[in-house]
Amino acid sequence: KRRNPGQKEFLQAVREIFDSLRPVFAQHPEYIRDGILERIVEPERVISFRVTWEDDSGKVHVNRGYRVQYNSTLGPYKGGIRFHPSVNDSIIKFLGFEQIFKNALTGLPIGGGKGGADFDPKGKSDREIMRFCQSFINELWKHIGPDTDVPAGDIGVGKREIGYMFGQYKRLRNAYEAGVFTGKDPANGGSLGRKEATGYGLVYFTAEMLANNGHSLEGKQTIVSGSGNVSIYAMEKAIEFGADVIACSDSNGFIHDPSGINLDTVKQLKEVERRRIKDYLDFHPEATYMEGCEGIWTLPCDLALPCATQNELSEEAAARLIENGVIAVAEGANMPCDQEAIDRFIENGILFGPAKAANAGGVAVSAMEMSQNSMRYSWTEEEVDEKLHLVMQEIHRNCVETAEQYGFAGNLMAGANIAGFRKVADGMVSHGLN
Ligand code: NDP
Repeated sequence: KRRNPGQKEFLQAVREIFDSLRPVFAQHPEYIRDGILERIVEPERVISFRVTWEDDSGKVHVNRGYRVQYNSTLGPYKGGIRFHPSVNDSIIKFLGFEQIFKNALTGLPIGGGKGGADFDPKGKSDREIMRFCQSFINELWKHIGPDTDVPAGDIGVGKREIGYMFGQYKRLRNAYEAGVFTGKDPANGGSLGRKEATGYGLVYFTAEMLANNGHSLEGKQTIVSGSGNVSIYAMEKAIEFGADVIACSDSNGFIHDPSGINLDTVKQLKEVERRRIKDYLDFHPEATYMEGCEGIWTLPCDLALPCATQNELSEEAAARLIENGVIAVAEGANMPCDQEAIDRFIENGILFGPAKAANAGGVAVSAMEMSQNSMRYSWTEEEVDEKLHLVMQEIHRNCVETAEQYGFAGNLMAGANIAGFRKVADGMVSHGLN
């Protein structure tokens, strides 16, 4: 707290992990001897830089760019880039810190990092987005590389932005290093199945969690917050598995369609036309729209999948979901439930899938994109999806077994924290003090 004043989200993420680690330290004195706790919270490197760009009218703007290279024990730093006005050092550090353990849980050779800028892509022209991405890379290119640090997308950054960043990197680096970014267009070095991976992976994880407790997705009334990349593909796979998805949202408000959300309309509005979710009503007048984001959690449901952003689901929202009979909650976004909300779910026996396990599918397929780029080869969509499914099943099994082993039976949050931490901590011990 003293060394990171005002970094609310970062401190929240650290506390969330440390609360689970007490029994681990009792069993592993080498972690104390080697100062693992003190070292793991300190990023290996933090880069912050000026991003100057010109809008279409010729006006000059300055934003702040970030890259936190958090931990390279298991492989090159790996984590997304976020463009959103709320981005600051606390947000990037919390995301980078979580990413270390998430990446460890995938079982793939990737370290943890995160980056972004306090740039708001909303309402910007395509050319403005391109100029911003180029300016961002004019500094960042010095710090990244296929064996050093491999960024991907996140909020506000999709294959269009990755394309512009890669183009500028290639120009400055004078080399075609396809593996320096993931989330590229599949027509241009990207992996098939990457766009869908976080959402599909979340549903694969949720299906495992439900099956392990005698349930399935079939017929479950489901709420998915957000209507971006993670949300859309979580809805798609949930519908495929027989769930009834009845609500989704954006940062202005939420729609409720009791007859089932029409995903083609959502995709057209959000992926193609970049419009607001309330415009859904132009096509489906029987649905309803409410301003405000948290209201979505007052709708009765069996399954809640928060897929928008951090701290979007508060203790009050959790209490309302429980009152309305929710049986399972799985986090598609990073840290969408605040600590009090998570405590409520766990105390009340609600099945809870924590982000660092449940949304690890995206980074898992990103690591597969790196493998395909190294081989200069590409797998089919079916091959990628099959590997993703196996990774998510394995993460779930690891969380269940680790929780049991350390006296937290049934608590997947503790299982994920301990399993991810142990993998990284063992690697750090083996690398000596640095
Ligand atoms: P997108 O930018 O594609 O979508 C974000 C969605 O969340 C949009 O619908 C956006 O609405 C909404 N949103 C943003 N801020 C708020 C807010 N304050 N309240 C309510 N809704 C909000 O991002 P992604 O889908 O890629 O990311 C969503 C979450 O998933 C993030 O937490 C991200 O870190 C996490 N994640 C993403 C991965 C990926 O592969 N993309 C991998 C793992 C985690 P609007 O359109 O109005 O801005």
